Amino acid sequence: MKNNQKLKNYIRFFIWLKLTVALVIKYMIGKETETKRITELYPDRVSSKTDKDLPQKYRGLLENDLNTCTGCGECVSVCPTSCIALQTTPSENISKPNIEIYKIDYGKCLYCGLCVEVCLPQSLKHTRKFEKAVTLRSKLNRNFTMDEK
Ligand code: SF4
Ligand code: SF4
Repeated sequence: MKNNQKLKNYIRFFIWLKLTVALVIKYMIGKETETKRITELYPDRVSSKTDKDLPQKYRGLLENDLNTCTGCGECVSVCPTSCIALQTTPSENISKPNIEIYKIDYGKCLYCGLCVEVCLPQSLKHTRKFEKAVTLRSKLNRNFTMDEK
């Protein structure tokens, strides 16, 4: 009789322990999910809006310093999507023709970096800029001028 009572007590204790553990686990998981619930208002997957959160070797929007660019056309030849438009006219300085047009269509660019690799004077560089949302597609075709950096 006494043994039966003991067994019942053990079973009760075991059930109580199981329920308590289950409740604690449920509470902890719930708490964890709660802290993970973050609404990103910005449509960027990176957790922040600053370029500091980007990978070290991130290839962002291209910039070309036309004061350094020699107009050699290597970037144009290597570009797989033909998104660079270059037009030059001869100048007194044979090694640096006048650059009449230098355009990059960011909408076609793959950010592969090939153009940067072949640019000997290193005038063409990837920046860490990643925001390129525009209202018109044509606005992605950027026209570079001599005064721009
Ligand atoms: S990064 Fe690639 S796709 Fe973009 S302009 Fe350079 S070569 Fe062309
Ligand atoms: S490869 Fe460099 S120097 Fe040559 S045209 Fe392109 S940006 Fe200019």
